[in-house]
Amino acid sequence: MSNAKELKKDLFLEKKHGGLLFSEEELKKAFDFCEEYKNFLNSSKTEREAVDYAVARAEKNGFTPFDPAKTYKAGDKVYLNNRGKALILCVVGKKPLTEGVHIMAAHTDSPRLDLKQVPLYEDNEIAYFKTHYYGGIKKYQWGATPLSLHGVVVKADGSTVTVRVGEDAGDPVFCVTDLLPHLAADQMKRPAGEILRGEELNLLIGSLPFRDDEASERVKLAIMKLLNEKYGITETDFLSAELEVVPAFPAVDIGFDRSIVGGYGQDDRVCAYTEMEAVFGAENPENTVMCIFADKEEIGSCGNTGMKCAFLRHFIEDLAAPYGIAGRTVLGKSKCLSADVSAAFDPTFADVSEKKNNAFLNYGVSICKYTGSRGKGGSSDASAEFMGYIRRLLDNGGVLWQTSELGKVDQGGGGTVAAYIAELDVDTIDVGVPVLCMHAPFELTSKIDVYSTYRAFAEFSK
Ligand code: MN
Ligand code: MN
Repeated sequence: MSNAKELKKDLFLEKKHGGLLFSEEELKKAFDFCEEYKNFLNSSKTEREAVDYAVARAEKNGFTPFDPAKTYKAGDKVYLNNRGKALILCVVGKKPLTEGVHIMAAHTDSPRLDLKQVPLYEDNEIAYFKTHYYGGIKKYQWGATPLSLHGVVVKADGSTVTVRVGEDAGDPVFCVTDLLPHLAADQMKRPAGEILRGEELNLLIGSLPFRDDEASERVKLAIMKLLNEKYGITETDFLSAELEVVPAFPAVDIGFDRSIVGGYGQDDRVCAYTEMEAVFGAENPENTVMCIFADKEEIGSCGNTGMKCAFLRHFIEDLAAPYGIAGRTVLGKSKCLSADVSAAFDPTFADVSEKKNNAFLNYGVSICKYTGSRGKGGSSDASAEFMGYIRRLLDNGGVLWQTSELGKVDQGGGGTVAAYIAELDVDTIDVGVPVLCMHAPFELTSKIDVYSTYRAFAEFSK
């Protein structure tokens, strides 16, 4: 008979820390992997920029725009660019489509401040843009921090101007002002959700007046003149613009040991990057593999670039049609890793988590059987059978993995795109990277977990 120590090893669930489990060589691979990841975060701070980055990389990797009139064969690589804001990358597999496709779906929109439709104004000789925040933010985190401006303006003649200010060396940045503590006695009595209110998230963009003693709104005029000279736009052109305000600082290493990546928008560009690298590495996969960059997840996956839109279903129908195969036949046999981040255990705020079921930094890719809130509401609860498949896939591939749940029961909750893909009759489960400071302007992930998530997606793409 075994002793207790051996018996426990055989019978108990054991969690493994990547920092102890990984060889020096594997650790170096994880760290090296995150170098280009940081470049991706810096060049892709909006959903449009993420799509641009991925399309450029895809074309270098032999992907061509998807043509529904064509019949694709094993090894073909195609992409579908949905309005410049969502994307499908696809590598056709050896098996027929009747055996289903392997889908990985991340989102590339992140919480931010959007400019209102009529944004420009002057108040006491300072020029501002009015904003309307996008997604779940703690508004107070967006004051007194350098911010950049990204997006597009569609002019009266229909031409589009791209804006990106605050990212290059020498660029100016912008700022939402906050009150000095000396005068903040009343402000500090406000509930935390109102320390900065929605209508106080005004972006400071200039302060020099147009030189004319007679005119009013001279600072606004001077700014509009600069914008007209640089972009050829007038104030009316803001009506047909999508301009997004995001943190201006770059992604960096955190800690003396450099084990963590800090940067904006890792929810969910960390999963977008890792699934994209897996698809780029997929040469002649068994099943057809797809990776999706979805938009609008942070506000409910709505619109024609969000995951509630039919673009995935239509793509699969178009891919299968030349073979005389119905889309529903493909979908019913398909598998999906809904690629989104999970909440990492934060020792400083331990009481919101239930430790046995929370994800931890450095314990690998996290698998989340269900999300939702108040009794799993709004979740796509994956089946035991599909969870069993994922276990075997990751264990056979030697991938470091853990399970996760978003906080204690009834502490809060949240959802992902999983529900909308599962609704298409696809076996779906949430898989992703644990994050600290999620939805803050500066989010943290472990390099071991980022690399383990890439490894999970690579196994799924074989
Ligand atoms: Mn997310
Ligand atoms: Mn999110």
